[in-house]
Amino acid sequence: MMYCAHCGKEMNEDANYCPSCGNTVEQEIIASSSNNYRAKKSRYYELETILGILAIIFSLLNYIGVIIVHLFGIALGIIIISMVNKDKKMNEEYSPVGYAMGIIGLIIGGVALLIGVLGAL
Ligand SMILES: [Zn+2]
Repeated sequence: MMYCAHCGKEMNEDANYCPSCGNTVEQEIIASSSNNYRAKKSRYYELETILGILAIIFSLLNYIGVIIVHLFGIALGIIIISMVNKDKKMNEEYSPVGYAMGIIGLIIGGVALLIGVLGAL
């Protein structure tokens, strides 16, 4: 709820003028909405979080003997990073947890891949 800067009466947030005193509040609305500006939540937000968890799980599975899965972990990490880059470009709020887990999954999977490659030599 917003209050008129002129008379203090409650008023509708998208009203251009105060219904009680007629004071124009257009400038105040613009100023306050830019102050409270929050990026729109990305539509991939939940997906990024879920894929982040999966990236870590897939990458970790390799360490307990499941083969190939770390490649999925790496792929998911790359997908999440590209999703987050898209969100940043669109100025949308991305999932910080999903982003962090995607990077961690990518690193864990990358290490697993490296160990596999070195082991095969
Ligand atoms: Zn007023």
